[in-house]
Amino acid sequence: MTAKTAAAPRRPAPATEQDVAACEAAIGCALPEWLRSRLLIENGWEVDDRQGLTRNEWRFLPVLDRTDRKSRTRTAEDMAWHTQQLHKAAAGVPQGAVVVARAWSPTTRLVLLPDSANSGQLTTMLWRQNGVAEPLPTPVDPMLLGQKPKPGPGSRLRSASELPVFRYHPDPVATGSIRKNHSLVCPCCGLRTGWIYESEPYGLGDQPPNLCPWCIADGSAARKFGSRFAGDIEGTVPDAVAEEVDQRTPGFTAWQTERWLTHCGDAAAFLGRVGWDRLKDLPDATEAVLDDGCDESTLPLITEDGDLSAYLFRCLHCGVHLAYADAS
Ligand SMILES: [Zn+2]
Ligand SMILES: [Zn+2]
Repeated sequence: MTAKTAAAPRRPAPATEQDVAACEAAIGCALPEWLRSRLLIENGWEVDDRQGLTRNEWRFLPVLDRTDRKSRTRTAEDMAWHTQQLHKAAAGVPQGAVVVARAWSPTTRLVLLPDSANSGQLTTMLWRQNGVAEPLPTPVDPMLLGQKPKPGPGSRLRSASELPVFRYHPDPVATGSIRKNHSLVCPCCGLRTGWIYESEPYGLGDQPPNLCPWCIADGSAARKFGSRFAGDIEGTVPDAVAEEVDQRTPGFTAWQTERWLTHCGDAAAFLGRVGWDRLKDLPDATEAVLDDGCDESTLPLITEDGDLSAYLFRCLHCGVHLAYADAS
């Protein structure tokens, strides 16, 4: 009989399709593809993200392995079990949230939230959740977990002169759409560029806040998260223009759904939110606001920051100003 030697830490065995399916049945929804495919390689794993976005070490939970009694015991505190514990303890957590990882403290968790646009599905992003609190409002891209902030030129704070050029939104810093911020990390590229998109994009599921303007400009946020930015594009423009405005141009915030105005068969450039003080010197823009149905007597009530605002555009071809107004 040979003495037992200390075995090197063994990689957990892969989960079977059946075990994953049983877990999905227990939690009542499908696991996102990134998680499912990883479980089929190893059933439970650890990620050291102490230097990353979450500043924590995480144990990704296994699904219950029914192979034999030993593996069943080892995996009994699985995703379904932790999910049940969460909902027992924390009433404020959204129904359908699923625990997929825990920190050393079992009540510091990473959860997936139900996709409001697709019932029975979970969103791809991870949300940090602690104790009985609601999940933190900033989701984490699972692909960035465990990555150290990237060294090299990408990680430095960039100057305003380096900002990408947006044909249809020429000065997003002036309009307040892009803001300087030296601490937040872009959820798309994982870099701290010094600049963030001020609002949350449209698009399916939970959209990430704090995107950097580069990930908007090169379309990576649109590809990765299905992010959309424009609201409604008014009038007919070529598909390529609609795509650039909606998927690669920072939007703006209005009281109602944003309307992107068009002229000469092209989208117009958004110049910003304006009040009557600016509008009154632009007869073409004033005319456009009146044509849009705004009453002449209310024109002087339009303010940049008030309950009634106007949104100013300029045609990139003939130079005419366009505008519309909306109210809270
Ligand atoms: Zn980015
Ligand atoms: Zn024009």
